[in-house]
Amino acid sequence: MFCILNTMNDCIFCKITKKEVPSEKVYEDENSYAFLDIKPNNPGHTLLIPKIHVRNIFDIPHNVLCSLMNPLQKISHAVKETMSASGINIIMNNEPSAGQIVFHAHIHIIPRFDGDDTKHKTYSERETKEIAKKISAALLL
Ligand code: 5GP
Ligand code: ZN
Repeated sequence: MFCILNTMNDCIFCKITKKEVPSEKVYEDENSYAFLDIKPNNPGHTLLIPKIHVRNIFDIPHNVLCSLMNPLQKISHAVKETMSASGINIIMNNEPSAGQIVFHAHIHIIPRFDGDDTKHKTYSERETKEIAKKISAALLL
């Protein structure tokens, strides 16, 4: 049987927060880190994660979950404005049956447009950098 164990050492999102793996960062504070999803459902699709390694909603300490709420709202505003979206989906997949693929808790912030489709899209490297820069700048306003 194939089994994937995710510890802090082999966790891709822990590596991203420690800057051992590159990411297009849009926000960072003491407890949280946000970056563009590599396979966005729409351009500007952002992932917000706690810096500590937890699997998902079932083991995240209450105080850590609460510490994500302020950045979640700020980033939602910034993503909506930057991408000129008409709406935002906030999604958290918890466990494989619910679509969780990366086992470090994360919240998807997905810009939505009237009549859009959410098939995975690809960015050019330049595009990702520009979008991340614009979202970060909107967070400072
Ligand atoms: P899940 O299905 O677990 O909720 O979603 C995990 C998300 O993480 C996916 O949307 C996927 O595209 C994204 N992802 C996986 N690996 C990486 C990575 O190395 N870098 C970035 N930026 N996103 C990733
Ligand atoms: Zn992790």
